[in-house]
Amino acid sequence: MSRQLFVTTALPYANGHFHIGHIMEYIQADIWVRFQRMQGAQVHFVGADDAHGAPIMIAADKVGKTPQQFVADIAAGRKPYLDGFHISFDHWSSTDSPENHELAQSIYLALKAQGLIDVRPIEQFFDPDKGMFLADRFIKGECPKCGAKDQYGDSCEVCGAVYAPTELKNPYSALSGATPVLKTSDHYFFKLSDPRCFNFLEQWTQDGKLQPAVSKKIKEWFTKDENGEGGLGDWDISRDAPYFGIEIPGAPGKYFYVWLDAPIGYLASLKGYFAAGGPLNKYGEQRSFDEFMADPAVEQVHFIGKDITYFHTLFWPAMLQFSGRKLPTQVNVHGFLTVNNGEKMSKSRGTGLDPLKYLSLGMNAEWLRYYIAAKLNANVEDVDFNKDDFMARVNSDLVGKYINIASRAAGFIAKRFGGQLTASIGDDGRALLGTLQAGAAGVAELYEARELGKVLREIMLLADRVNEYVDANKPWELAKQEGMDARLQEVCTVCIEAFRLLSIYLKPVLPALVGNVEAFLKVAPMTFADAAQLLGAHTIGEYKHLMQRVDVKMLDALFEPPPAPVIELPKPGESTKAPMPPEGEALALGRPGGEEIAPTITIDDFVKVDLRIAKIVNAEHVEGSTKLLRLTLDVGEGRHRNVFSGIKEAYQPEQLIGKLTVMVANLAPRKMKFGVSEGMVLAASHTDEKANPGVYVLEPFPGAEPGMRIR
Ligand SMILES: [Zn+2]
Repeated sequence: MSRQLFVTTALPYANGHFHIGHIMEYIQADIWVRFQRMQGAQVHFVGADDAHGAPIMIAADKVGKTPQQFVADIAAGRKPYLDGFHISFDHWSSTDSPENHELAQSIYLALKAQGLIDVRPIEQFFDPDKGMFLADRFIKGECPKCGAKDQYGDSCEVCGAVYAPTELKNPYSALSGATPVLKTSDHYFFKLSDPRCFNFLEQWTQDGKLQPAVSKKIKEWFTKDENGEGGLGDWDISRDAPYFGIEIPGAPGKYFYVWLDAPIGYLASLKGYFAAGGPLNKYGEQRSFDEFMADPAVEQVHFIGKDITYFHTLFWPAMLQFSGRKLPTQVNVHGFLTVNNGEKMSKSRGTGLDPLKYLSLGMNAEWLRYYIAAKLNANVEDVDFNKDDFMARVNSDLVGKYINIASRAAGFIAKRFGGQLTASIGDDGRALLGTLQAGAAGVAELYEARELGKVLREIMLLADRVNEYVDANKPWELAKQEGMDARLQEVCTVCIEAFRLLSIYLKPVLPALVGNVEAFLKVAPMTFADAAQLLGAHTIGEYKHLMQRVDVKMLDALFEPPPAPVIELPKPGESTKAPMPPEGEALALGRPGGEEIAPTITIDDFVKVDLRIAKIVNAEHVEGSTKLLRLTLDVGEGRHRNVFSGIKEAYQPEQLIGKLTVMVANLAPRKMKFGVSEGMVLAASHTDEKANPGVYVLEPFPGAEPGMRIR
């Protein structure tokens, strides 16, 4: 029976897009998963959105959506990232799925039956306006230590003091501004301090399965200080309604704290994958989810960031152990990604690395996969993305040492030998290929141990050997010499065979590129086992260019700070300018309407702009303005809006009154010389107003009504 693996990455919180830290983790896990699949393992690789909790409930409320819709909209934006970086999840779900509700409740009931759930009254701040208890992050006030205003309920950003929210001076609710009141409520606790839990975790976290640095850190968490503080406390797992989460069985108005049901989402996503028939189609798996998870041979492997170690190495194994479920086989913790010498990632300063911007600039996803792999090891260390290092690794190593082997040999094989390789290889060629073949075991061991940087160093050392062979035999000179055809075919065959072996070893990191290599070599999808044999007298296909070098202009564009937002009313002949993409070959396309199409956005970016059908109830000149008309708009809100629009040169007020148009309904109000403008009417124009004059207000097809949303 082949190895059976259930692999997960941390579930991203569904209140925003993926950032580069998520992508780094997915790349790390995906490389390991692809390696295991190449070794013949049966791998189920699943992810899900972490959907619950107060922050999502509040964010959804702010934009007038249900939490379910809010999370669904975020989830709909995940695909371009996952596809773009070749992340091979088998299934993606949400922690709000029916499977997760059912599993979370059944795990809780099992813990309760074990006597590990306790109920205790807790005194907490309550927002009387919103009718809800406030998490620490939603209480603000003056720091009890330094008096700084507007500090959060848990710590002061000015003096760094840490305190309880009840210590704040003049506290107020960050949601409503109301003064919070203290109120008592029953909370549910998972009794981690119970000797059964303590003894189990003490053993489980220290038996060598975790990374040494992780075990060491956990030991500190276990230990009480000289004042008896610290140690393993009971865990508050309940929150009071209103809360977006899973109801606690037998406890009306109580919900599981989001961190209780989030890791259960791993199991729920896998269960959903089984329910959808995934393993049946892929591996012919006949067992149910429960039967699969009951098999002791199945290995459960989690990839996580260091910030959530506590949840995954203490709470999660204890929940599984005392509900009678399989325990994690591996919890692989990685560090954070920093950008350009550890500068803290900040979008406004342009130091962040936006994954979708990376793709939209035409940068190759496999450059990033290769680079991240080159920087990763099996330890909990931070990884720094450095521009110069990125250029060097991709251009010198990946393209210079690896791709060039094929490009230097393939042309001769195609032109001179009709694509035919030779089976007759002399001792020097055999020795080289033997060395490469013998490297397979070491490479596989390093992949297994997640020593990705070492894997790539090992593979590049092998590539160096091949390049030494090329330089010693100089096929381009052999090609010019009389009577050297057989030697030329042999040398080029050795190069192609070597290139194939290196491609096998690089395939977990470069799946798309090696897919193209397989097409070029006319071979079936390669696994590590294929390294044992050579191709022999095989006919290969036509070589097509496999990978470009990185252009420094692309990297400059990637880190260019986004332009400051410009909120201007459109004037005749002058559109509200979309941010101009930086110069660069990949972007030098057409300029419809006088400007390039703006960088790609996701559907979630678009839905932030609330466009509504508006009826122009009135339009009039504005005294003292040569450009503006004052429009009175009705978007079905039971009130009218006042909007100034720079369309005076194009329209008379009477042409507009009674018409329908389209407005941006959620633009921040803007104070102007003539009054406040509460939105913006959409109009089309050419960038170059002199060459292409005219401004055209949008009008919907008949049937649209004021207030309808444009989507
Ligand atoms: Zn302070």
